Amino acid sequence: MINVTKRLYVEDTYGNSFSTRVEKIDGNNVWLKETLFYPESGGQAGDTGSLNNLKVIDTQLDSDKNICHVLESVQNLKVGDEVEGQIDWNRRYKIMRIHSASHIMEHFLFEVFGNLKLLGSHLNEKHDKSTYESDSKLDQDKLVEVEKRANQFIAKNLPIETWSDEKKSHFRYWKCGEIVMPCGGTHPKNTSEIGQIKLKRETGGNGREKVKTSLVDL
Ligand SMILES: [Zn+2]
Repeated sequence: MINVTKRLYVEDTYGNSFSTRVEKIDGNNVWLKETLFYPESGGQAGDTGSLNNLKVIDTQLDSDKNICHVLESVQNLKVGDEVEGQIDWNRRYKIMRIHSASHIMEHFLFEVFGNLKLLGSHLNEKHDKSTYESDSKLDQDKLVEVEKRANQFIAKNLPIETWSDEKKSHFRYWKCGEIVMPCGGTHPKNTSEIGQIKLKRETGGNGREKVKTSLVDL
């Protein structure tokens, strides 16, 4: 058992490089003393980047909920080595912007369509895809209205706050304007960083509807 990896991205959302020590290696999986790499969770894709000159192709949570960096190859990396970690900031920043955009989209989706049951979501550097339970096809005109309300809200340049639950520090919240929801992901500090969004309906199969949220400038 190794110590729980310190999650540097919680306080340092905009940090992209750090120095640390290798705690454990198993195959191409590497555990660190602390990390800025966000592990795939809460629908948000895991970070990519590098440790020294070695490529990190994914970041996952292991069975102990500890952060595991998946490398292309560990070459001669050893436990105890000091490493320089660098996350692919260009990709992660897009993910942060899309993540906050998806929360705002959902707020206005429920405002326009009523509360829909969220069945799952996944977001990466291209888009968020959220799946909802719905007996009928999401009406296109109403979805345009959701997009319009979301973009008007984003254009207000509102601050975005995140914080940890007082009792359960791993449980985090996200707030923007009057919208509050539980979320442990990484987010920008202001809606001005998101820019305008566009929405697209996709079919999710039987009784399921998907909403794809992407950024106009990507
Ligand atoms: Zn979230």
